[in-house]
Amino acid sequence: MKILMYSVRDDEMPAINAWAKRNQVTVATNQEDMSSQTVGLAQGYDGVVIVQHAAIDSAVVYQKLHEYGIKQLGLRSAGYDVVDLPAAKANDLIVTNVPAYSPRSVAEYSLAQTFRLIRNLELFDARGAHQDFRWGGLIAHEIHTLTIGIIGAGRIGGTAARLFHALGATVLANDLVENDDLKDVLTYVDKETLLKKADVVDLHPDLNPSSTHLLSTAEFQLMKPSAVLINASRGPVIDTKALVTALKEKQLAGVAIDAIEGEQEFNNFDLTGKTIKNQQFVELQKMPNLILTPHIGFYTNVAVQNMVDISLDDAKKIIEGGQATHPVE
Ligand code: NAD
Repeated sequence: MKILMYSVRDDEMPAINAWAKRNQVTVATNQEDMSSQTVGLAQGYDGVVIVQHAAIDSAVVYQKLHEYGIKQLGLRSAGYDVVDLPAAKANDLIVTNVPAYSPRSVAEYSLAQTFRLIRNLELFDARGAHQDFRWGGLIAHEIHTLTIGIIGAGRIGGTAARLFHALGATVLANDLVENDDLKDVLTYVDKETLLKKADVVDLHPDLNPSSTHLLSTAEFQLMKPSAVLINASRGPVIDTKALVTALKEKQLAGVAIDAIEGEQEFNNFDLTGKTIKNQQFVELQKMPNLILTPHIGFYTNVAVQNMVDISLDDAKKIIEGGQATHPVE
């Protein structure tokens, strides 16, 4: 059995080599995204596994994979919007994903950024950079005195709720569906109450029509001016233009953004000395107490190992004629 993995990073190689050895399967790798230009590399392989931000650019890709006798298209990410599912189905390709590689990875990102914001570390760093070592105006708040408002208490949001609760914070949540298993650590409220009461608003919904621009002008106006906001879910959950205005008008005190509209332009690229076209991103970069990270919430030892292992396990099962554990319907 031979599997080809696209867009492989160096940090994935130890997990890939270990899986290949354990399973006695040949796994080849490249650094290319799957596209009409690169699909030809899959000829001669039994299966393919991809991960990428750019959508697969042409229906030809699915036709070619079918022609090569490939039966699956594995994603080692949770998101699968880069794949045209009807086109994959029309070419008898079973698409798989890794729905939960490590909810802890993103939940711990939220925790890390919460502490950075409530301790005003960005602002102390900015002062220190020009040798201003005063404390004035930057008193911190201890976590157990704060109310955390989690919107989207699913796998990641629920994990974050447990972590914040363990630290003594009061946790409120808003979700379309209430989960009884979380009621020992959080209280469900409507979105308006959450936004009015929370000191930290932590966003973890999946992206769907109801969560697109979930926070926009009206929602920012409800938030406390002392509140901070974290988005490690998906970029379009926040209306970026409205966020820029809210920050300029001091409607909130700090923001950590791991996912932003238009992030494909810069995520995991070295753009040193280059001009970034996304004007809202450029404006945000200049703001104080604004932390921007390039979609790294997932990027931990445990998550990377699981993304490799789970995607390859499913590819192998399908190639052997079995059932995938994580098919995308
Ligand atoms: P999940 O499906 O387990 O949970 C999402 C929750 O959001 C569900 O409980 C759902 O009912 C709720 N929800 C959906 N729309 C809502 C709305 N309008 N209002 C309130 N609640 C709503 O998903 P998950 O695995 O916990 O992932 C959460 C998010 O994290 C996703 O957007 C995912 O893409 C993102 N993510 C980010 C990273 C990263 O590196 N930053 C990594 C993995 C996942």
